Amino acid sequence: MNNGHKSVGVLAIQGDFAMHAKMLERIGAPCKLVKHPSELAEVGGLIMPGGESTTMLKVFSNEGMGEAIKEFVTTGRPVFGTCAGAILLAKEVLNPAQERLGLLDISIERNAYGRQVDSSVRQGECPELSPRPMEMVFIRAPIIRRVGDAVRVLGRCDGLPVLVEQGNVLAATFHPELTEDESVHRYFIRKLSH
Ligand code: GLN
Repeated sequence: MNNGHKSVGVLAIQGDFAMHAKMLERIGAPCKLVKHPSELAEVGGLIMPGGESTTMLKVFSNEGMGEAIKEFVTTGRPVFGTCAGAILLAKEVLNPAQERLGLLDISIERNAYGRQVDSSVRQGECPELSPRPMEMVFIRAPIIRRVGDAVRVLGRCDGLPVLVEQGNVLAATFHPELTEDESVHRYFIRKLSH
């Protein structure tokens, strides 16, 4: 993984990209912050962090980043969206509807846990990734309301899908970069070598 092309890009427009970079460092994966579309040429995969999806969308249209990410995914390189990142990847966004990349066949409802639950830590499970229950941090989190036939559910919490995958696109409604559990990032890193 020392070759530059195999470093993991972390979209660094807005949101908690720094915590993803820290997690990648912890598991020994070379990482590069991506602020401009041209920088995608230098990375083998991309993490789209949590934050505010509407803010990221504004920058996407100004800079052509949305189109560049679509192109990136069609070349087969893996992308992992967490929370706002998952919202940006979805095919359908509810509450309210908004622009999206449409790279993952799910319908996702923003801020779906209600205003009174701003954030919470819950126990979920991702049996293919880890035999142990997983601590999951939800922050103004969305809920995946529909999962298309081509989408695999890798993780659940309270009966809801929270980690899903369609080919080279992975998405979580929680924040695996904020806990000690490294298994979701390790799983994503393995997708870079395929
Ligand atoms: N509520 C945010 C949004 O709709 C997502 C929150 C998060 O990424 N932690 O974009």
